[in-house]
Amino acid sequence: MSFAALASSRAMADPQPLGPLLNTPDFDRLAPEWRRVGLRPYRKGGVKLDIDPGADTVQARKVLIYNYGHGGAGITLAWGCADQVKDFVDTALRTRLQKPPKQTRVAVVGAGVIGLATAAELKRWAPDLTVTVMAENVDAAGNPMPQSTTSWIAGGQFEPSALWREYQDCDHPCKMDILHDLVRRSHRRIQQIKALGIQGDYGIADRTNYILANEDDEGFALGMPRDVVPAAQTGLLPFAKLATVAGKAYATWLINPTILLPRLVSDLRAASVRFEKRKLRTRAELIAIDADIIINCTGLGAAKILPGTGLTPIRGQLVVLQNTDKLDYLFSGGCGNKSAYMFCRQDDIVIGGTFDYTANLSGLTDKSYLTMRDRVKDIFSGNVSACNSTPSNGACHP
Ligand SMILES: Cc1cc2nc3c(=O)[nH]c(=O)nc-3n(C[C@H](O)[C@H](O)[C@H](O)COP(=O)(O)OP(=O)(O)OC[C@H]3O[C@@H](n4cnc5c(N)ncnc54)[C@H](O)[C@@H]3O)c2cc1C
Repeated sequence: MSFAALASSRAMADPQPLGPLLNTPDFDRLAPEWRRVGLRPYRKGGVKLDIDPGADTVQARKVLIYNYGHGGAGITLAWGCADQVKDFVDTALRTRLQKPPKQTRVAVVGAGVIGLATAAELKRWAPDLTVTVMAENVDAAGNPMPQSTTSWIAGGQFEPSALWREYQDCDHPCKMDILHDLVRRSHRRIQQIKALGIQGDYGIADRTNYILANEDDEGFALGMPRDVVPAAQTGLLPFAKLATVAGKAYATWLINPTILLPRLVSDLRAASVRFEKRKLRTRAELIAIDADIIINCTGLGAAKILPGTGLTPIRGQLVVLQNTDKLDYLFSGGCGNKSAYMFCRQDDIVIGGTFDYTANLSGLTDKSYLTMRDRVKDIFSGNVSACNSTPSNGACHP
């Protein structure tokens, strides 16, 4: 047996703690607004990210670009998809439109994380472009209201959660390369922001993510390229009541949307981007927008504007705790089919992981929120028996 293999077999036989013990949150310390709920814009086939080939757009001398359907991974993919849109715009300017950026008007429809990041990346690439962001959640005075979007609700873990399954195509193994490319592009932007030392302004923080060893971590294992986040380490979990429980740890990032979204709005204002209150109802209305390039970043709203989007709302609830001890780790991939996660953010701690195929936001009881909270509390009090792994239903193998 080689030295490396011997060392690895010893590590498995004699697992070491994954680090010094970390504090457990006070699960009874609920934040003032402790119940949150949102609808993930899940799309069969993955993110709709391309240029519309319709004859009506060519006739109108317009370019219509789509960027919607990010499911539970929009915070993760926003910069990557924005970078891809920038490439589409670059090509359109040089070919179909044959115009310089200075003479080009772009309308970005949608002011969630996808619309804001798309507008911001376009202005960073070509400051001469005239960019307007249009959305329902802009007030009459032109002030965007990011608090009213799904993006605001997101926990903010950097991982292509659940959506990665749409890229797992056994007949077309390269499809995962498309997702990996988008993750890499987002990662590149994170690194640029970090190099400038302004990551805190964008809600970005380094985080270690801990999971139970026998949990389904395919989202990380398959959806995250290893050059972005290296393989997980195995060992004993560094929490008092879990200190004999086998787990895994890997480095990733938190991108807190409650910090990121206002920052993107202020970047756009500083770059002279105008916000306009506008509700689009049909494809014809979209194409009629007075701009050369129209980018549809309306999330779930796209299903009301266009036929056949493949969008499905998936409801997720969050319980918010106070983070008085400034805890700074993530715990996710817990509880098998009763998925559970907990993200310690800059100012709060969010517990989530519910995955309900419904668009109904009303009628959620306090009990349903507190049950989620108690599930994670249970894990952290050492009761992991309810959290044994269940087989993934998205795998290609039987
Ligand atoms: C509970 C929960 C937890 C999550 N956690 C994470 C996470 O940890 N990591 C992660 O990466 N992602 C996470 N997500 C997913 C993430 O929130 C979404 O993928 C992302 O917010 C989608 O962004 P968006 O800009 O497409 O949509 P939205 O934020 O919904 O924005 C859509 C915009 O379009 C506008 N609009 C819609 N329809 C129209 C119309 N007809 N006319 C004009 N404007 C319109 C809206 O007003 C809004 O401005 C989570 C989601 C939920 C619900």
